[in-house]
Amino acid sequence: MEDILKLKNKNIVVMGVANERSLAWGVAESLYRAGANLIFMYRRERSREKLERLISDNKYEAKLIVQCDVSSDESIKNAFVEISEKIGTIHGVVHSVAFAHSEDLKGDFINTTREGYAFAQDTSAFSLIAIAKESAPLMTEGGSIVAMSYLGAERVCKGYNVMGVAKAALESSVRYLASDLGQHNIRVNAISAGPIRTVAAKGIPNFNTYLHQIEETAPLKKNVTKEEVGDMTLAFLSHLSRGCTGEVVYVDSGFNIMA
Ligand code: NAD
Repeated sequence: MEDILKLKNKNIVVMGVANERSLAWGVAESLYRAGANLIFMYRRERSREKLERLISDNKYEAKLIVQCDVSSDESIKNAFVEISEKIGTIHGVVHSVAFAHSEDLKGDFINTTREGYAFAQDTSAFSLIAIAKESAPLMTEGGSIVAMSYLGAERVCKGYNVMGVAKAALESSVRYLASDLGQHNIRVNAISAGPIRTVAAKGIPNFNTYLHQIEETAPLKKNVTKEEVGDMTLAFLSHLSRGCTGEVVYVDSGFNIMA
């Protein structure tokens, strides 16, 4: 069959694989099936071994694995210098990274601290801008950047609090970046995923309630999987979505359309 995705041997950077439950791992598996070369980024040195084991246990190979802490400009710069030197041209980046202090996800949003607000914004929203800036020059043949968002960006989801405001900034940043980078044939989109049990999700107090709500009221009457998020991300990275930029697409069993 003709390769309609046009991702075979394309170099894609995947950020945010903490373990096999991570949304980013769902994306990685979809990308492997499409024949892409994967460059993984991890945050802490101790995570590297875990990531290497996950890749080899699943009989995959990484083209490159680089350290990158998105809270440091220097770390981001160094990561993309290393990719530039060892790989050269890249064709996509998956930004699947977010963090907030757990105390800012408990209780009332009004009690968010200045420091907690800045921290969540910096790690979860500004990081996309910094990553886009360093990665765009390597996308010499055009490219696609995909970020992960959540419904809490636009609706009040109790317990999501400061992260909801960070996701609102992330979604807005997707649109501004899409506007800047379109002239270089670089597209920027986001997926608004339904709730999925991951390490990051553990910090959200009402998480089980959200899972039940989807099963009860979403048109598809089931929770989404990391594989479903992975396949939609694959579409955004592929030739199939070449006419699409600045979009936020829901992978949430249709929950967002319900009153
Ligand atoms: P996860 O815990 O598996 O992944 C989060 C990743 O962020 C981890 O790999 C962690 O190392 C990384 N990270 C945090 N701070 C970092 C930093 N300073 N530098 C580099 N990396 C850092 O959880 P996940 O649920 O797969 O989260 C991935 C993305 O999906 C996040 O943006 C999250 O908000 C989003 N999302 C998750 C859900 C859900 O229900 N799980 C729903 C919608 C959106």
